[in-house]
Amino acid sequence: MKAVVYKGNGQIVLEERPMPALRDEKDAIVQVTLTTICSSDIHIKHGTVPKAVPGVILGHEFVGRVVATGSAVKKVKPGDRVAVNVETFCGECFFCRRGYVNNCTDEHGGWALGCRIDGGQAEYARIPFADNGLTVIPDHVTDEQALFNGDILSTGYWAAKIGEIRPADTVAVIGAGPTGLCTMMCARLYTPARIIAIDTDGYRLALAKEKGLADITLVPGRDDPEQVIREVTDGRGADTVFEVAGGKDTFQTAWKIARPNAVAVIVAMYEEPQVLPLPDMYGKNLVFKTGGVDGSFCQEIMDLTACGKLDSSFLITQRCGLDEIMDAYDVFENKKDHVIKYAVRP
Ligand SMILES: [Zn+2]
Ligand SMILES: [Zn+2]
Repeated sequence: MKAVVYKGNGQIVLEERPMPALRDEKDAIVQVTLTTICSSDIHIKHGTVPKAVPGVILGHEFVGRVVATGSAVKKVKPGDRVAVNVETFCGECFFCRRGYVNNCTDEHGGWALGCRIDGGQAEYARIPFADNGLTVIPDHVTDEQALFNGDILSTGYWAAKIGEIRPADTVAVIGAGPTGLCTMMCARLYTPARIIAIDTDGYRLALAKEKGLADITLVPGRDDPEQVIREVTDGRGADTVFEVAGGKDTFQTAWKIARPNAVAVIVAMYEEPQVLPLPDMYGKNLVFKTGGVDGSFCQEIMDLTACGKLDSSFLITQRCGLDEIMDAYDVFENKKDHVIKYAVRP
């Protein structure tokens, strides 16, 4: 089968790989029907994900059809359409029992797919702990509507959940890329008064506004986010800040626009260390919560998708076949053609 493989040293290639097979009684084999590229794949390519293993098949955000299951798999069966959770987890360890599946202590626990074990930018993928990692897609939900269930939508959902948003709050989201847009979508579920989106990309901000996700959009440099946010909050600052950009100065923006006692959720995956200027923020009594996602809510997200409360399919701006995925990588990495997300059909 064809698969995208990380070779190390900034290199990824599309090559021929053997079909995956069941290795454990809790495994399932999924025929991938739709997959995508995530910015984490770009981080792996750049060598900034230390856990990523050269030789691994990339891809941790995909949907497909179950074609085989191990003897201990109960929830899914061959023929089921499924969304795949970015995280594989045992469900039994200390962290799993508390819902912190990102830190599952099993050797295949946490973000392993497309990083430490073969992932889904391929025709088929092996999913460990299939009962925990696969969510059945209802018939009336399309592959495109389900594609982001297990990764960026899970991230937005998890971030919004730990953001402690109260009704009528002011929420600021730094970064209107795919994950930022998902975060806005999920923050909406908590009925804030307003969502303020901050990004340097006017196209992405316009999309956030057009889709009803952002009420106010700000471009640093043109606008002064700190000042504007003070003005709309009686001088206080944002009640919850989501930092989803991971840019050069965006962490500094995050704590500056937060009101005293705010929650700042740091969703972004930085490629460099960030400075926490404690003397400057003394007395502000901020609460920082850092990523990555605990993918514990895939069923809830699927239920919200099924009833029309969440629909992330508008994020798909480009479509191609697996044969064309190397061109897609170039477009996605360099943010060409106003790309938000690709849908790649193996
Ligand atoms: Zn991802
Ligand atoms: Zn576990």
